[in-house]
Amino acid sequence: MVLTGAGMSAESGLRTFREMGGLWEEYDVTEVATPEAWERDPELVQRFYNERRKQLLESEPNKGHRGLAGLEKYFDVQIITQNVDDLHERAGNSKVLHLHGELRKARSSADPNLVYEIEGWELKMGDSCEKGSQLRPHVVWFGEPVPAMVEAAQIASEADIFVVVGSSLNVYPAAGLIGYAPQNASLWLIDPENVMAPVNRHVEIIQEKAGKGVELLTRRLLDKYGK
Ligand code: NAD
Repeated sequence: MVLTGAGMSAESGLRTFREMGGLWEEYDVTEVATPEAWERDPELVQRFYNERRKQLLESEPNKGHRGLAGLEKYFDVQIITQNVDDLHERAGNSKVLHLHGELRKARSSADPNLVYEIEGWELKMGDSCEKGSQLRPHVVWFGEPVPAMVEAAQIASEADIFVVVGSSLNVYPAAGLIGYAPQNASLWLIDPENVMAPVNRHVEIIQEKAGKGVELLTRRLLDKYGK
């Protein structure tokens, strides 16, 4: 299982959360990505996500994404991503679970089960679901529940190999997933910074960016598991 965060997509030109964390048109990201912000100023929230979506459509999977797709030749790879981009899918990974939603989808603000693909980059005020309610970005905002966590915890608890790529492991509940890995699972962490995993166990650290890091990981896994 591979848990990925914003750093996974940094080499595709998408900014990490911390890089975005400053002021964005006078608002803090944490203040744009909340249910309260949507109540207060939905146009601003739409604009913020429209901008992210436009950037995503102009971006491509990087060497790290492609490397994780390549691992499927040797292992049963399950990606669990905190990212809302679709770069893992575009790189070719077949099993991708999105914890925090998907930027290229919209959902009804009245019925969370009504989810739609967005054509192009723009979601507008006035775009509505089949029941007539305004569409909102299909992303999990700060303070909202993370429905995919149950499935993610189940997957983590069955992992033989648990890899984290490009996550500061600051955003919960996602960061807690590593704690579900079985005692005999091997744990790996790829990040150019010195990230602390919230577990009292040995973690193999590969202190590199995602592209180079996944290449080194692949080599070491193939050695270790004799593939
Ligand atoms: P974070 O910004 O808190 O941490 C990013 C981590 O990536 C840091 O530890 C940083 O050192 C590392 N990093 C930077 N460049 C890297 C590279 N080239 N290769 C590998 N690692 C690199 O991100 P987070 O832990 O994912 O949590 C932030 C939240 O923001 C998540 O919920 C995520 O959904 C959201 N987010 C998503 C996207 C996206 O979809 N692409 C982008 C920004 C933020």
